[in-house]
Amino acid sequence: QIAKRDGKELQFFSPEIKSYREQLLLENEMQSALQNEHFEVHYQPQYHSATSSMIGLEALLRWKHPDKGWISPGEFIPLAEESGLIVPLGEWTIRKVCEQIKEWQEHGLEVPKIAINLSLKQLLHTNFPKRVLEIIHQEQLNPCALEFEITESVAIDMDHAAEAIRSLKESGFSISMDDFGTGYSSLNALHKLPVDKLKIDRSFVQNILNDEQKAGILKTIIDLTKHLDMMVIAEGVEKQDEVQFLMQNGCEYIQGYVYSKPLPPMELAKRVQFEMIR
Ligand code: C2E
Ligand code: CA
Ligand code: CA
Ligand code: CA
Repeated sequence: QIAKRDGKELQFFSPEIKSYREQLLLENEMQSALQNEHFEVHYQPQYHSATSSMIGLEALLRWKHPDKGWISPGEFIPLAEESGLIVPLGEWTIRKVCEQIKEWQEHGLEVPKIAINLSLKQLLHTNFPKRVLEIIHQEQLNPCALEFEITESVAIDMDHAAEAIRSLKESGFSISMDDFGTGYSSLNALHKLPVDKLKIDRSFVQNILNDEQKAGILKTIIDLTKHLDMMVIAEGVEKQDEVQFLMQNGCEYIQGYVYSKPLPPMELAKRVQFEMIR
């Protein structure tokens, strides 16, 4: 981009070009981070609000950069999707989660279902359902140990996505619809896909006590899940009065800072009460 100021031509990198250079650098670094195991999986518990019992965990990826410290997935997942690195990175994540489940089980803990986020690219990658099944079998686990979170972005290529999702379901994996209501084809996606659980996006939970319209939408989403016989969980819940509101309106499952932030496995095992098998 060229800009003219005081008759002189100034040349500078536009933000896009600058960030493109940064992107390239990050992409390269991500590649070696994967090889050097600089990624970690943290886990955020999901609770049944009335009994305060943990019903699930969501696996969330973290990148521990040697110089920059922790980099959030909001920053690197889009890049990984663009470059295609999401496929090996996603597979690493699934394997890591399986290993974690095994480790906790060996310590006599009853591990709840663990939800793993899936990018559309991963889902549509050749033989994805077969690959995960292989990983699960290699780790000697049952597919019911895992849930996959998809988003309404699957509507971009609904036929192929639906095929992959059906195949995952047939193998015994659970499917949940993440960020519900924020995409452009929520109802269509729900109608076409065998989804077990719906996650209400944080944007519909925030400020519900002061926003009647939002409360109306929230109640309607909850009603919808009852009609469709689906589980419903609210995410990004930060306040106790939000928990009360959700409970009163039929949403019993809650994920959010009100209970816990995503935690590294060691910390989670220390802080959270797992049921003991023995
Ligand atoms: P998401 O799947 O919607 O995950 C929920 C995000 O909300 C997480 O951010 C979580 O830390 C944050 N969160 C949880 N509770 C609260 C709360 O009470 N208040 C607020 N303000 N935030 C809360 P995180 O970990 O930074 O992840 C961001 C996004 O990156 C995720 O959004 C997901 O789309 C993506 N992501 C993370 N891990 C993976 C992965 O392994 N694979 C793929 N494909 N995407 C991932
Ligand atoms: Ca998610
Ligand atoms: Ca979400
Ligand atoms: Ca989100």
